[in-house]
Amino acid sequence: MQSFEGKVAVVTGGGRGIGGSIAKALAAGGAKVAVVSRSEASCGRTADEINAANPGAAKAYAIDVADHEAVQELGKQVLADFGTVDILVNNAGVTRDGLLMRMKEEDWMTVLDTNLKGAFNTVKAFMRPIMKSESGRIINIASVIGLMGNAGQANYAASKAGLIGFTKSVARELAGKGVTSNAVAPGFITTDMTDALSPALREGILTKIPLGSFGEVDDVTNLVVFLAGPGARYITGQVIAVDGGMTMQ
Ligand code: NDP
Repeated sequence: MQSFEGKVAVVTGGGRGIGGSIAKALAAGGAKVAVVSRSEASCGRTADEINAANPGAAKAYAIDVADHEAVQELGKQVLADFGTVDILVNNAGVTRDGLLMRMKEEDWMTVLDTNLKGAFNTVKAFMRPIMKSESGRIINIASVIGLMGNAGQANYAASKAGLIGFTKSVARELAGKGVTSNAVAPGFITTDMTDALSPALREGILTKIPLGSFGEVDDVTNLVVFLAGPGARYITGQVIAVDGGMTMQ
């Protein structure tokens, strides 16, 4: 385990699933963690779990990442609470699946606003302290769907493809300050999001995964922890898939 002693991390969507696992892993390594999610109950639960093991290591912030003003206020609040920010993990994400014929404008906007604009909002809110950090890290949780596209997920694919372009632009803009910016593209990982898939769809997907199973949240967390740590200082602007080989060329 890498040491994150003295580091402060912000994890959006840290209430459950992949983000919850990332928040707990960074805290286990010694980081102080700002856990952000929509509902107080959700981010509060993760923060309580972290604080039970390391008192004072986490604080919960119930906020909609799509709300630009609220996220800028969050930036001020986290700085007041923890003094600095070194690591930003943009993990909050939603789906509103449907074929284009039936997709409503609201489905498009909700997904783009959360998954893509949410990352813009947080980078704007936290980039100053991250640039001052000696080891600034921005890690965006994209998806293999942003690389491949998917019928019924035009909004989600566009948001994640946009997030990948954003990740690379941030990498170029902030490289001079030693900040790295990378995207992690999970394939199918067992969480609430994939538990919602029908058994037939699940079987169909499994035939396309060379390693023959869905991933676990830890598979994604392990990579994020590596990218957040000192061992990844020379990796930036990359998109790394954690997908059991599904998208290998
Ligand atoms: P979950 O649905 O399990 O959790 C999503 C988290 O994001 C929750 O904590 C939720 O908050 C938070 N969230 C959602 N919308 C907002 C918002 N507007 N503002 C603040 N927080 C928000 O998702 P997963 O763990 O499955 O996915 C995490 C990320 O990984 C997502 O970006 C997803 O697209 C990506 N991903 C997941 C894959 C998978 O197979 N699971 C595959 C590829 C990518 P709350 O708890 O309060 O509702």
